[in-house]
Amino acid sequence: MKKHNFSAGPCILPQTVFEQASQAILDLDGIGLSILEISHRSKEFIAIMEEAQALALELLGLEGKGYKALFLQGGASMQFLNVAYNLLENKAAYLNTGTWAAKAIKEARLLGEVVEVASSKDANFNYIPKGYTIPEDADYFHCTTNNTIFGTQIKEFPDTHVPMMADMSSDIFSRAIDNSKFSIIYAGAQKNMGPAGTTLVVIKEDVLGKVSRTLPSMLDYRQHMDKDSMFNTPPVFAVYTSMLNLRWLKGLGGVKAIEERNNNKAEIIYTEIDRNPLFKGFAAKEDRSMMNATFNLADESVKPVFDKLVAEAGISGINGHRSVGGYRASMYNAMDVDSVQLLADVMQDLEKKA
Ligand SMILES: *Cc1c(COP(=O)(O)O)cnc(C)c1O
Repeated sequence: MKKHNFSAGPCILPQTVFEQASQAILDLDGIGLSILEISHRSKEFIAIMEEAQALALELLGLEGKGYKALFLQGGASMQFLNVAYNLLENKAAYLNTGTWAAKAIKEARLLGEVVEVASSKDANFNYIPKGYTIPEDADYFHCTTNNTIFGTQIKEFPDTHVPMMADMSSDIFSRAIDNSKFSIIYAGAQKNMGPAGTTLVVIKEDVLGKVSRTLPSMLDYRQHMDKDSMFNTPPVFAVYTSMLNLRWLKGLGGVKAIEERNNNKAEIIYTEIDRNPLFKGFAAKEDRSMMNATFNLADESVKPVFDKLVAEAGISGINGHRSVGGYRASMYNAMDVDSVQLLADVMQDLEKKA
């Protein structure tokens, strides 16, 4: 039986994407070769890469606005360093909203001064700091749009005079925002775009070329741009599967259409968390993530009963991250509203049985 997969990542993808990707492993579009054995320089793969890049820009609303989409390797974690390497000359401003943001700060500190403009560490990152000031002389400002582990999400972005960089790993393509506010957007594929193995990096070209350090080729965004993400062999299967998923999203009506579904799913789960006396939400209400809902039991003694009900319902992947405990329901784009309703029903069942 196919399970209801609430894993935070790698995570659920649409069933049709799994089927198409499986077929392409055997025979890519009837060419008599597998996607896994064709040259990345073949016309078939170049078309796949171009479609993936075009779909990414189109779905983000960034077509024709001076941006390039790259499919790189090394995960979002590599971008923590890469952003600083390519842009940090003197000083950069970072918003600390949790584990991933802190890791980005750690890497940037290797290369220059980092000003932490605000942090929600005082409350185990259960909220998004607001009303902070970004130094006008910073090379850039960096934020994490959705905090996968803590279940918080930035709803309003600051107006800043310095270029804004965002780690959007866990909410890219999930909601209609003005992406043109950002100079660089990056996202590990495995949260909301595709399988692990590639990282989407969307760059406004005019932001580069301003640092004095010598950039090693593999860390230099301009090298990857010049070579259209083919500076070295790209992760062909991860790019292909991401492209299939972006096609699926476009077919549904794009980001606006998925946002409506995502809002609906979040509403179902948070309504139950707030209604049910056996559960407590972790994140501050106004900062709740539409992608990752974090919650704890009010009384830990019912945990075995709840875990059993969850397993019997075929629900997988809702254990919380160790830094928060409790539960985390990740509801990425591909998750069906029925699966979220099922989880809410199981939470109601617990109330009857506990
Ligand atoms: C998962 C995650 C990362 C780490 O991604 P990798 O691809 O494993 O390096 C970074 N940032 C956020 C917000 C994440 O959710």
